[in-house]
Amino acid sequence: MRLNAILDFVFPRKCLGCDREEGYLCSLCRDKIQFLEFQCCPKCRRKQSDGNFCSKKCGENFNFDQLIVCLEYSKSNLISKMVVQFKYRFSEELVEVLGKIMKHQLAEFSHEFRNEDGVFLIPVPLSPGRLKFRGFNQSILLAKYLEKNFSGMKVYDCMKREDGSEQQAGKLRNERLKNLENKIAMKEDSGENLRAKNVILIDDIATTGTTLNECAKVLKLAGADHVCGLVLARGK
Ligand SMILES: [Zn+2]
Ligand SMILES: [Zn+2]
Repeated sequence: MRLNAILDFVFPRKCLGCDREEGYLCSLCRDKIQFLEFQCCPKCRRKQSDGNFCSKKCGENFNFDQLIVCLEYSKSNLISKMVVQFKYRFSEELVEVLGKIMKHQLAEFSHEFRNEDGVFLIPVPLSPGRLKFRGFNQSILLAKYLEKNFSGMKVYDCMKREDGSEQQAGKLRNERLKNLENKIAMKEDSGENLRAKNVILIDDIATTGTTLNECAKVLKLAGADHVCGLVLARGK
């Protein structure tokens, strides 16, 4: 029996919204998921239809150009329960559920990314220690789901991250940035040329955007032209 099958037996999969034994998300709770009605400036959170920065000033110190958010994240809401579950227990079902949410939102914007040379979907990297502990990088799984659903978009897992650089909670934004400096880099053997490329950086949750920003810095140095962050949810 595979580990997941054993876990399912010991802890039956209940809907994370209402406890019914119908997988992680029952059809009723699925219908209740509310997408963000509008995108915001990543800095000041003023309404901004395409998730761009609303002014030069807001964009100062940011390396990514745009941030698309699918849902609002708050402690204990349904999306946060799903993301936590997904972080610690691999589940095809959750890849499907969460991937679909991202697909829905990206579809609204995908026309902006049309590029003759294709668009790279780049997952935010996990450090080797984290990866070993979890067994998978949830951002890669989401990126692969999107690759299957959008022609011309291709997963490119080109970044790496040092151990210990994930512990960001409780730090102020400046401290977070300092903590991350030079901890994220391109993999030595990343063969594809990023020059003049449109890339979409994929992550599950963003709060202050520091991780996305550090990744975007590395990608821009590698030649990327436009970097858009796409996250499932954004915390307050
Ligand atoms: Zn339910
Ligand atoms: Zn702004």
